[in-house]
Amino acid sequence: LAVLRGSSFVVLGLARSGLATVRALIAAGIDCVAWDDKEDGRREAAAIGARIADPTTVDWSKISALVISPGIPNRLPKPHPAAVAARAAGKPLICDVELLARAQPAARYVAVTGTNGKSTTTALIGHIIQSAGVPCQVGGNIGRGALDLAPLEADGIYVLELSSYQLELLQTFRANVAVWLNITPDHIDRHGDMAGYVEAKAHIFERQKAGDCAVIGIDDDYSRAIFERMAARPGIAAVPVALERPIAGGVSFRAGMLVDADGYRVDFSDVPTLPGDHNAQNAACAWAACRSLGVAREKIVEGLKTYPGLPHRQERVASIGNVVYVNDSKATNADATARALSSYRDIYWILGGQAKEGGVAPLAPYFDRIRHAFLIGEATELFASQLDGKLAYTRCGDLKSALDAAYERSRREGHGAAVVLLSPACASWDQWKSYEHRGDAFRAMARALPGAQMLGR
Ligand code: ADP
Repeated sequence: LAVLRGSSFVVLGLARSGLATVRALIAAGIDCVAWDDKEDGRREAAAIGARIADPTTVDWSKISALVISPGIPNRLPKPHPAAVAARAAGKPLICDVELLARAQPAARYVAVTGTNGKSTTTALIGHIIQSAGVPCQVGGNIGRGALDLAPLEADGIYVLELSSYQLELLQTFRANVAVWLNITPDHIDRHGDMAGYVEAKAHIFERQKAGDCAVIGIDDDYSRAIFERMAARPGIAAVPVALERPIAGGVSFRAGMLVDADGYRVDFSDVPTLPGDHNAQNAACAWAACRSLGVAREKIVEGLKTYPGLPHRQERVASIGNVVYVNDSKATNADATARALSSYRDIYWILGGQAKEGGVAPLAPYFDRIRHAFLIGEATELFASQLDGKLAYTRCGDLKSALDAAYERSRREGHGAAVVLLSPACASWDQWKSYEHRGDAFRAMARALPGAQMLGR
């Protein structure tokens, strides 16, 4: 960050990425003030030598910008007072990714956004590039914050997952390759309406220049409109990605095959770490992004086939005979669980926790794939009433009892391949600290079952 010497920043929000920002600024000898409304964050920042001050009391005439955590509302539904103060003083609001871009202008950047599949696609692109031997760092909204990433030489590539909130906090950042996966209504509260949400995400293409590439999944109407817009922009290589239909000049996924623009085909049917059509969309977008970066096809194929997967997202953790145990703890709503249910047959389904609106009623189309359901947590009675007469279930109370019951039943019924799936369609907070905590427990318990063979990492 040495190039920023002489500037002065207020850093608001002192969780992981905020603390990494403060650390990087201090290390580079750049003046900064840190603040978090919670005392924990302030204490940690003070421990690394930060100057702590309430941003509403700061002399903003001396400040270059407010580095605000993307998690803190700066406009809707109600702006944080620090954002109000910064705007009143005419100072820009930025995030850590913007600072990285200013510090490392010679590196190449791949940015990934979308409503769903961001982390998977970001990790997948990073894995492919790394296995192809190109120096690369993966972070942003996934894993490590932008300023926790190691500096790269000029030929290095940063692969960054960017949320709509981060995208709104960029000023000079330019994506050499921008990947737009899909968009469905979500986070409307902070963007006002769907149009606001789409435009916030469309910032990913801002400042792209001739020679840059825009990879766009076009399976929903909003995304198709974005593709049309980008295809009309001179000099930008806009690559459409679609499922189950041929697509001129783009990448498609049809009947188990990835098909490149020129007809080159890759058998995609035996990649167990990327199950389901949704992952085919992620893989096809990763393919297009890596091709535009110049990665050889064979290297991409190899990367796809060796992709280890991310924890808690349809993560294969163990097998017992021909029953595979899958941790999908990240599925905290019915929509995410639908993806998992559509990926398998003969499922012993563990679900429950803290229910979201609508519960599991929208999942009825997948019930014929399920052998039995095992209910846990606060949602038990709600889900029991929604499953009554449609799907056989057992009330299990907690995860351990549910896993044991699923194990017993799969042993007893054991004909052919089956899946014991934790895909709760619920938040975890009734019984766990986080979805990660819940998924880690499931993984450990599944691997401890009699006869379990470990899968994955
Ligand atoms: P994000 O980072 O956008 O939240 P993840 O890659 O972590 O996305 O995936 C989270 C969940 O979203 C997955 O478990 C799966 O249920 C669903 N998902 C993943 N990719 C897609 C996609 N391309 N389209 C729709 N849903 C997806």
